[in-house]
Amino acid sequence: MYGSWKYVGLVNIKKQELESKSYRMEAFSMQKKVSEMIHSKQKATVAMAIALSGDRALAKNIKDKKVSHQYYRDLSRAFRENTLYKNIWIQIIDKDLNSIYRSWTDRRGDSLKSIRNDVENVIKTKKINYFISICKYDLSIKAIVPILDKEEVVGALEVISHFNSISKQMNKFGVDSIVVLDKKYKSKVLYPYTNIFVDDYYVANFDAPLYLQKHLKGKNIKQYMDKDYIIHNDSLLTSYNLKSIDGELIGYFIMSKNIKSISKTDLEYFVFKWIALGLIGIMIVAGITNIILFYLMRKQKVYYKNIIDSSKNIMMVNDGKQIIDASKMFFTYFNKYNSIEEFKLEHECICDFFVEEDEYLGQSIDGLYWINYIIKNNNQTNKVKLKYENNVYYFSLNAVLISKEDNYYSVVLSDITNEETYRHELEEITITDSLTGIGNRRHFHNKINDEIYNCIRYKHPLSLIMLDIDYFKHINDEYGHIIGDEVLMEYTKFISSHLRESDVFCRIGGEEFIILLPYTKKKDAEKIAEKLRVNVEEYKKVVPITISFGVSQYIENEDVNSILKRVDDALYEAKNSGRNRVSVK
Ligand code: GH3
Ligand code: MG
Ligand code: MG
Repeated sequence: MYGSWKYVGLVNIKKQELESKSYRMEAFSMQKKVSEMIHSKQKATVAMAIALSGDRALAKNIKDKKVSHQYYRDLSRAFRENTLYKNIWIQIIDKDLNSIYRSWTDRRGDSLKSIRNDVENVIKTKKINYFISICKYDLSIKAIVPILDKEEVVGALEVISHFNSISKQMNKFGVDSIVVLDKKYKSKVLYPYTNIFVDDYYVANFDAPLYLQKHLKGKNIKQYMDKDYIIHNDSLLTSYNLKSIDGELIGYFIMSKNIKSISKTDLEYFVFKWIALGLIGIMIVAGITNIILFYLMRKQKVYYKNIIDSSKNIMMVNDGKQIIDASKMFFTYFNKYNSIEEFKLEHECICDFFVEEDEYLGQSIDGLYWINYIIKNNNQTNKVKLKYENNVYYFSLNAVLISKEDNYYSVVLSDITNEETYRHELEEITITDSLTGIGNRRHFHNKINDEIYNCIRYKHPLSLIMLDIDYFKHINDEYGHIIGDEVLMEYTKFISSHLRESDVFCRIGGEEFIILLPYTKKKDAEKIAEKLRVNVEEYKKVVPITISFGVSQYIENEDVNSILKRVDDALYEAKNSGRNRVSVK
């Protein structure tokens, strides 16, 4: 951005430079034009003077002091009517510097001695002279030529012309002019021909436009026009210095041209060129920047992708519904697929593989989509059990909303299969009776609480059977502990085989057991106990044994200890009333 501004700044400076160059060129060309015109007018004036002075009759007449006034009057009228050079004044002077004819007045015979050095000089040197000069009437262009009779100078002829025709000519080129006499010569102009003044400056051309007169008012013209050019109100002003025969600055040919009419082809080309170049430059820079950024980003992307892919975790991007992208690790698990696209042909989301269990999340939890549930409950450990092609994995999950607009989430799955399996094993051990393999007292307590909760919630009956091997001490005493253990194992297996899947069979003491029977009323539990009692008695494996049973049903709102006490009482009653029997409480 900064570069672009800098560039625009540079182009602007360059443009201004070029603009001022084009103005300067225009000013020079105007000056050159006017200079040429002045010169050509001077030369024409000289040519006229020569033509007039070459008249042999004139020379003779001067010599004889017999100049025909009518003849010259006719001549000057002919000039006026037939040439571009109107308003030409003619003066004829004899060799003694007496003015013998003036086209603008009838005054004759006065001496110009010491007044007109220029004329004196021409007579003395026999050389033509032309210059710009100031006279009583005007600032004018003069040509003085000697009048010769054979080799002898008999007088001089002066042709005086004005700046009006030049300013008119310039006008054809779209240039307005004001020809100004320097103010220090004001006093010389006794009878101002145009009678136009700007302050103390005499204006030598009738057609000097008013706007220029107004503009120059109050200005020191010398200082003001000292510059190559001036831009004012959309006009380019420049001045050509008018110098006297002695090289003295006597006036200014000030020209004004509308800047809109000044050809700016160069400038337009320049602006076009530089803007075009600038645009190309910007495009190149932008292109290069883009390419660099693209490569940097690609590099960065590769870099981050490498980091992500090197992770042992599965990293995924999901929208609210389906998977968008995943890290390399994803395909280590879902090895049937080579790409997310392939995966998506069969599944929207890995949640298709979630196994919803106690502590493991399903696709939605309490009405929340699994990802939203994780985000909402990020302070707890969120785990999933994932089953894919006969393999079971456990993952802990983390999710973050990465784009609210697109509803994109990043989800990280860390494999905790080993930890979970080990934990499950440990848990299993802590609730399992090592000798018989059925639940232990701890397991029983966990279960009875769960079952009481379900029983209250779903209002189904729950019964308990407590059983104790009769005279087990004797078996130990008689056959030894090892046989005692075998009896425990054998009969546990035997009783288990008579129970339903939903029944919970636990060893809560040495040879004391309990069976939790959900959906079972006391009467049915009693029947089950009775059946077990008979079967055990008849089983007679390892060592024949009998068992006493206490049966009880959970009464709504009673606590665990209360039902345990009742069933224990029932067992006690069975023991006390002779053993190998079922007692109900
Ligand atoms: P009752 O009919 O009144 O129940 O008589 P009992 O002998 O079965 O009851 P008691 O409580 O007097 O004895 C239980 C015996 O069970 C004591 C102990 O030696 C035995 N026992 C407890 N746990 C084990 C065990 O794990 N293995 C073996 N072999 N014996 C055990
Ligand atoms: Mg016993
Ligand atoms: Mg006992």
